[in-house]
Amino acid sequence: MSKVFTGNFTQQEPIPATGIEAAVAVMKSGRIHRYNVVGDDIGETAQLELEFADYVGSKYCLAVASGGYALATAMRAVGVQPGDMVLTNAFTLAPVPGAIAAVGAKPVFVGVTPSLTIDLDDLREKISQAKVLLLSHMRGHLCDMDALLELCCAHGVIVVEDCAHTMGAKWNGRMSGTDGLVGCYSTQTYKHINSGEGGLLVTNDPQVMARATMMSGSYMMFGKHPAGPDVDVYDQIRYETPNMSGRMDHLRAAILRPQLADLDRQIARWNDRYRRVEQAISDCAGLTVIKRPQAEFYVGSSIQFLLMDWAGADIQSVLQRCAARGVELKWFGAPEPVGFTSRYDSWTYAPKQSLPDSDPILHAILDMRLPLTFDLADCDLIAEIICEEVTAVYTATQA
Ligand SMILES: *Cc1c(COP(=O)(O)O)cnc(C)c1O
Repeated sequence: MSKVFTGNFTQQEPIPATGIEAAVAVMKSGRIHRYNVVGDDIGETAQLELEFADYVGSKYCLAVASGGYALATAMRAVGVQPGDMVLTNAFTLAPVPGAIAAVGAKPVFVGVTPSLTIDLDDLREKISQAKVLLLSHMRGHLCDMDALLELCCAHGVIVVEDCAHTMGAKWNGRMSGTDGLVGCYSTQTYKHINSGEGGLLVTNDPQVMARATMMSGSYMMFGKHPAGPDVDVYDQIRYETPNMSGRMDHLRAAILRPQLADLDRQIARWNDRYRRVEQAISDCAGLTVIKRPQAEFYVGSSIQFLLMDWAGADIQSVLQRCAARGVELKWFGAPEPVGFTSRYDSWTYAPKQSLPDSDPILHAILDMRLPLTFDLADCDLIAEIICEEVTAVYTATQA
């Protein structure tokens, strides 16, 4: 009998007890709205903003309702207008082109390399088509950020970073999300800290933060943002900026704060699991692991590998065989979007584009979550199953 894995790929760890206690205290107080505070208390939401700004080393931080909301707000705050073109990754998730579309702008997709990062050559070719790049560090893979910044800077292109998968990651020691003009993070359940829904936006630019804060629904309460710019920055901005409510509340902030305090320890646990699986599948014939650059400090909350040049039917066969043994792989290249996966050509609201160099890579990407509820023995078993099933299908095709 072949072994079967029985763990759950979408099971996160419980909220830390201190977070539960803090959330209960918020509920007991009845003051859940972020501006509903008394006396000197700045409240959980503003505390979280201060702590997150400190964690990434950014001047300002704003907590919002979701990662997607943070992205769309960042688009507006840096001045993207309806009809504008915005450069973004072809390999990303739906909320990224969605944030561009939310502003009435249009995505220009930039290709993906076999390292699963944005293709800088393709970016160089397309860079004159837009003034803004929404850079998605998809599945936690950081491109050569030094080269990217140099290229964007030379062309006056503003960089907004989607750090949904890189909260806590670094490039050459710099925290992910602090290289661009704005960094956006998600605190949705499957990301690195979990409040069900939620988002964070960081920047060092006082104007951008003031606009984002007004948009998030601060009414005239912008003075209650200790992690925001001085109130005089709002002199004009408060009249000019529409309110598009999307605030975070104290309840979410209360459960996020202890998770943020513990994030570095969690990252080490994710990376133990990642390296365990990576090591075990690295010799598997037919399968390519993703090389991680020296300058990258990643958070291995998920792992990807390539089945390069495989026929779709064979990839499907690996998926089915692994699923039958309890291992949930996701195929980003599936012809039809399933679950959380989707491809650039399934977002038909975007102008039709073709990326012939990226298509074979997208076709080859398999992806797997590594929740912290898995232990190292789970990782060994999962890797063993993947390797056995990939080998079985691969050997049959070589015969
Ligand atoms: C989850 C995610 C987002 C947005 O997060 P939500 O909080 O779900 O809106 C953005 N980009 C990527 C790559 C994501 O995976």
